[in-house]
Amino acid sequence: PKGTVTILGLGAMGSAIAARLRETGYATTVWNRTAAKTEPHVQAGATAVATIAEAVQTGDIILAVLLDHKSIHDNLEPAAAELKGKILVNITTTTPNEARATAAWAAEHGITYLDGAIMAVPEMIGRPGSRLLYSGDENAFAIAKPALETLGTAEYQGTDAGLASLKDMALLSAMYQTFGGLLQAVAMMRTVGTPAAQTAEDVINWLTAVLPVMESLAPLIDERNYDPAPGQDVAFTRPAVASIITASREQGVSADFLEPLKKHLDELAATGRGTADWISVVEQLTIK
Ligand code: NDP
Repeated sequence: PKGTVTILGLGAMGSAIAARLRETGYATTVWNRTAAKTEPHVQAGATAVATIAEAVQTGDIILAVLLDHKSIHDNLEPAAAELKGKILVNITTTTPNEARATAAWAAEHGITYLDGAIMAVPEMIGRPGSRLLYSGDENAFAIAKPALETLGTAEYQGTDAGLASLKDMALLSAMYQTFGGLLQAVAMMRTVGTPAAQTAEDVINWLTAVLPVMESLAPLIDERNYDPAPGQDVAFTRPAVASIITASREQGVSADFLEPLKKHLDELAATGRGTADWISVVEQLTIK
């Protein structure tokens, strides 16, 4: 084997990761709270152990894939002594500050810490399109990289352990708000009997056409170049959004997803920024 990786947590994600590591020539040691889930892994050649303390002693790299920040701390804190000197890669989803707190805890106990975020679903692990983000100890990333690259592209974000989670959360924020928009379109169109499959196709075509515009808008944001508007101004966009809200309600569909955008545009208009580009809404998002 290329080395031994210990996987803590055999949920949907941990199981896919453990299987992929074996497939690519790594020996695996596995631990899971519910011991029964280790059985298929043992049949596939893994070594199962009953406690985290034992699990961390056998691996060169310890990969934690539990539920959340609390489950990480409840389970890893009692094994701090055994983790000393090890590389702990925690790819459990957490907030940036939770990742930083775990990094500080690890530093106190002499544990080399790398935080991670998984931009993939279990079925994608080890396949094209699978992407994982990492931040924290740079040397640990260099050492763990060959094993981590078997799971998907391994992208190092920087020494601040919170960076991987921050990008994860930012991308997920964009995803959920985009999907929220898709669901709103489906709800509007089904009032006239259009199947969701048709609206989904229409939305995908529309977004595919308009999303590249973001690349030309981005430099304007970096330069705070809003007024006069290089693109659509607030005076144009504000009534356009108001019309979408009215149209949605006329069909008996809530426009709650759009109201916050309208509120930001109202505020820009009310403070004399009607000629500014509507994307200056980004400045409204910073909580002062
Ligand atoms: P699952 O619900 O399938 O598995 C959860 C795992 O966490 C199980 O191994 C479970 O153990 C363990 N666990 C939960 N609570 C505790 C606890 N208090 N103490 C010890 N172990 C605990 O989740 P996933 O495998 O899908 O997700 C794991 C992580 O990966 C999460 O942070 C998730 O956000 C992240 N992730 C998942 C993605 C996905 O598509 N599934 C995508 C991107 C990230 P037990 O078997 O005993 O219940």
